[in-house]
Amino acid sequence: MQRPWIITIDGPAGSGKSTLGELLARHLGYLYFDTGVMYRALAWVALERAVDLQSAEMLIDLAHQTVIEVQSPHQDDGRPYTVYADQHDVTWAIRTPAVDRTVSLVARVAGVRREMVRQQQVIGRRGQVVMVGRDIGTIVMPDAPLKIYLEASLDERARRRVKEQQERGLAVDIAQVRADLARRDALDDHVLVAAPDAVVLSSDGVAPADVLTRVLALFADNTPEPRRGYGL
Ligand code: C5P
Repeated sequence: MQRPWIITIDGPAGSGKSTLGELLARHLGYLYFDTGVMYRALAWVALERAVDLQSAEMLIDLAHQTVIEVQSPHQDDGRPYTVYADQHDVTWAIRTPAVDRTVSLVARVAGVRREMVRQQQVIGRRGQVVMVGRDIGTIVMPDAPLKIYLEASLDERARRRVKEQQERGLAVDIAQVRADLARRDALDDHVLVAAPDAVVLSSDGVAPADVLTRVLALFADNTPEPRRGYGL
C-alpha cells in the first residue's frame, strides 16, 4: 500500500499548523516546509529596502530577485530551521511585529504568489514532505493525498501567540495580538479556504499531541474521505 508522501496543512495564523507540521515531519522522517517563511522573508527584504508596499511591480521584481533558502538549523537557539534571504540569516527577524504587519500585504500580490508557488512546488514535488501554509492544498499541491485544514478560535489563537512571544522574552498585549491576528485573517481571506478534499480539524482546547495522533490515524488510513467540521 502506498502511503501519502505529501501532507498539506493549511489554516489561519496561530491555529497550530507549525507545531503540528513539525511534530508530524519529525515523526515520519519527512521534510518540514513552512511556506509562510518565504512570504515573511520577502516582507523583511521589502522593509529593509524601504520598497513601496503599494507597488505590485516592485514587489514582484523583489520576489524574482530575492534568493530565499530554508536549511536545517545551524544554531541551537530553539529555531526549527534557518531561513536565509539573500544570504542573511533572517530566522528571527521575520518573526517581528513589523513583518507580521507587512507580510499579508506582500502576499496579496498575485505576481508575488505565482513566484512563491513556483518555488514551493519545486521543493514539494520532491516528496516526503509536510507543507504548511494557506493555499498548499488548494493551489500549491492540489494533488496531495492527505490535506489538513486546521482551525481554532481567534481567542485561542491570540492566547497561543502571546505565550510564544512571552517565551521569547517579548512584552505583549493580548488585545493588540488579537487585533493583529484579526487584521491578518481579513487580509488573508483570499487564501483562507479549505480544499474540498481537506479534513477540517479544530485545535481549540486540544493538545498538540492529540492533534498529531488524529492526523497520524488519517495518515495510516491512507485514503481519507472528504470530511468537514470534523471534531477531535
Ligand atoms: O504562516 P505564517 O503566519 O507565518 O504566514 C505569514 C503570512 O504569509 C500569512 O499571513 C499570509 O499572508 C502569507 N502566506 C500565504 N500563503 C502561504 C503561507 C503564508 O499567503 N502558503
